[in-house]
Parts: sequence; C-alpha cells; structure tokens
Amino acid sequence: MLGEVIALAHIIEAAKSGRAACRTCKQPIAKGELRLGEEVPNQFAGGETTHVWHHLACAAKKRPAALLAALHDATIDVPNRAELETAAAASSSSDKPSAFPYAERAPTGRSSCLACHQAIAKGELRVAVERDVDTGSFAGRGTGYLHPACASGHTGDDAAALYAKLKANSTGLSADDADHLRTALAA
Ligand SMILES: [Zn+2]
Ligand SMILES: [Zn+2]
Repeated sequence: MLGEVIALAHIIEAAKSGRAACRTCKQPIAKGELRLGEEVPNQFAGGETTHVWHHLACAAKKRPAALLAALHDATIDVPNRAELETAAAASSSSDKPSAFPYAERAPTGRSSCLACHQAIAKGELRVAVERDVDTGSFAGRGTGYLHPACASGHTGDDAAALYAKLKANSTGLSADDADHLRTALAA
C-alpha cells in the first residue's frame, strides 16, 4: 500500500460504548451519543488508519472541516445538523490553516527556525511545515517553522513551487504579505 493516497473518511455514528473520550475536551462520550470519528493515519501501522472521536459540539469548534465532511456524508439522522453546520462554518472561517505548508505572521517571538535555529521575530513572516516530533514520551506530527529564506532549502521544493503551495494553504495572508513571501522565498 506504500505510496497510495488514502482518502480519509470521517464518520458520524452513535457511540457503541461509553469508553471513548473526546479528543477535544477529554471528557467521555456517552454510549449512544452521536460522535464524530475523524479518520487519521495510524502512525504505528503504515497505510492503515484509525479514528479519533469527538463530541459533535466539540468538533464544530475544533475540527470544523472534518465535521462538515462527515455531516455531508452522514446517512443517520443528526437532530441538530443545522446548528452544527452553522457552528462549524463559523469556526472554519477563523480556523488555522489545516494543510501544510502554510505561511503566517509569527504571533509571538518564541519560535525558532528549523533550518538555521535562529529565532523568528514576532510579526515576521514564517513558513509552517509538518514535522516528526519524538520527545520520548510522545511521538507524532507537530508543526515546525522556518524563515521564508530558509524554507526552500529545508523542504527541497524550489521557491516557485513552494510559493504556490503556501499561497494555496495560507488563510489570512494579505496580498502584500504574499508579495513579501514570494521575494523572501527566493532570497
Ligand atoms: Zn468533547
Ligand atoms: Zn532560518
């Protein structure tokens, strides 16, 4: 299955037991309660997937895209569907971009660049990429940041290709920022 693109299917179903906890709020999901199963790659088994569960109301706030996709495909009756759709649409407009890589203005000065290890100043444009994180107790995917000028060397994309991806994935990037980004990527 290596290299196969997996289309992730998110589902809404009634909880089969009361044992699963909501990934968002960490509270248990009661047996019989409708829940969102967000399908995610299983990092312990290549090519396989697993579900993480959310209360529908929690998903509307934190996983709006997955919830909307699942509602669209849902064959079971979701009593508060309209309300959930409205809430999810409201969250997705203020949502962080969910696809990597994306560009943004650094909200703090706490991040440092994966490539040159120098700090990224608050307010400076930065490129966010997905990276492997292994702290010993936690292994998974996290977000890493790069100076635009360091980004293309780090990701292996040429500046134009990287710019096209960033432009597609970045929400809330002004036209000015996009211009700055294009210049900085090629620096
Ligand atoms: Zn919850
Ligand atoms: Zn750098």
